[in-house]
Amino acid sequence: MLKTLIAAVVLVTAMTPGTLFAQPQPVKPITSPPTLIVAISIDQFSADLFTEYRNHVTGGLARLLDGAVFPNGYQSHAATETCPGHSTLLTGMRPAHTGIVLNTWVDLKSPLADKTIYCVEDETEPTNTHDRYSVAATHLLVPTLGDRIKRVFPTSRNVAVSGKDRAAVMMGGHATDESWWWNGDTRGFASFAGRPMPEVVRQANASIRADLGTARPALPLPAYCASKSRAIAVGEQTVGTGRLARAAGDAEAFRTSPDVDNATLALAAGLVTSMKLGQRATPDLLSISLSATDYIGHSYGMQGSEMCVQLASLDQHLGVFFKALDATGVDYAVVLSADHGGIDLPERGTEQGSATTRRSRFDMAAVVRQASAESGVPAAALNARDSNVYIDPTITGVRRAQLVSITRRAILAQPDVAAVFTADEIDAAPEPSGPPETWPLLMRAKASFYRPRSGDLIFALQPRVVSRPTGKGYVAGHGSFWDYDRRVPILFWRRGMPAFEQPLSIETVDIAPTLAGLLHLPLAAPAMDGRCLDLDAGPATTCG
Ligand code: ZN
Repeated sequence: MLKTLIAAVVLVTAMTPGTLFAQPQPVKPITSPPTLIVAISIDQFSADLFTEYRNHVTGGLARLLDGAVFPNGYQSHAATETCPGHSTLLTGMRPAHTGIVLNTWVDLKSPLADKTIYCVEDETEPTNTHDRYSVAATHLLVPTLGDRIKRVFPTSRNVAVSGKDRAAVMMGGHATDESWWWNGDTRGFASFAGRPMPEVVRQANASIRADLGTARPALPLPAYCASKSRAIAVGEQTVGTGRLARAAGDAEAFRTSPDVDNATLALAAGLVTSMKLGQRATPDLLSISLSATDYIGHSYGMQGSEMCVQLASLDQHLGVFFKALDATGVDYAVVLSADHGGIDLPERGTEQGSATTRRSRFDMAAVVRQASAESGVPAAALNARDSNVYIDPTITGVRRAQLVSITRRAILAQPDVAAVFTADEIDAAPEPSGPPETWPLLMRAKASFYRPRSGDLIFALQPRVVSRPTGKGYVAGHGSFWDYDRRVPILFWRRGMPAFEQPLSIETVDIAPTLAGLLHLPLAAPAMDGRCLDLDAGPATTCG
């Protein structure tokens, strides 16, 4: 199906003379800059999934194993969520500096009745509401690699495509030529208000309408997936044996299937050919975030047939996508990583050798009740979001200090808590440094702490404690301080490059400076948190 989709989008847009090179270009050394960077994020593709599946891949992921393989990449911060994670991938900065501390944070000073701010919503836009928000990059405080490339080479193109708005915006940044994300329904891909829709997006949206309107039977179960197909009861649901069949018109099933990734890759391939990306002297950047793996992880966990079928399918789709890129003759370089990892269902963990995974018993409502009762401050003065607790800014001085300390005690009185830090403690902590697996919890908290948007208290649950099931579509998750959520693979590939594997840890903030090195791009302020990784396997260097 992907082949047909990509073929439809690519062929229609590519059949103008001179678009395709007649012959493949000769292989260039890794030390000479490529003309196109393709940066791919697979949402929730943990280092553990990479390890589990790397011996089974035969498509696009198999190709990347012939490049520079870093199996121990780190989204090194504490708030291992989608928006913070995507904000690190191409900025070279940790969330403390990108300002993207959570998917959604609390701003108690906001004049809006609802004090929550989604990371890519422009709450200052007069027509903005939470249901129909205006998408903007205003909360991202730093430039992306695409923004930096365009400052040096104004004719370069910065293009982003994703299944989720926050992923496209965080990878693309402020100065995008095209930025398209799936709207979540038959309308297909959308962009910032006022952006004209190119013909290639119109075609992709027609394909989505047709695809979404047609039922798709269960996907085949590869032989190596058979042992994973085993029913597990989770509350009212049973998961573990699904093969991602979907009914006609079911948008939720569409996004929880390889079909949304398929549509995203087809549009990306269409934009490469229609915009002739990589075919000029100045470098272009294409960012792609593939969202289905994350929806499937949340809906079914990581060790069942559903994830196995998804990754088999994604591997094949990536293979077709790379072949479409090959056909353009462009000398492109690929980086593939993820915004965060994840952990499987504790119910399956218990059956399969991990007696230490369990559902959280932590009760935030009880924390608020206790803190309010002990302090005499109304419960409304405390507002919690994920692991952040915010205190009403009109409470100041000694009363505030007392409320912070009472709230800390109330958090520690709950089961499953590993640590709690105050904003002052995090502010005073040293800047993160050294190998990320050695960082104490306070340093991990510091890496995703930006005072104007972070809580007054931040707590960590104990390792292997999974948030409670919240119904259909959410039985497992991520977001913790722990390495199963922080570790992601980072793979670099370019045609003909000598392969190597580096098992020592690196960070996702190293990706942007590494790509800047590959492009010979001079880096102006602001300085990045990451460092350039040498992608030349021998004595030469790609870090200038
Ligand atoms: Zn995510």
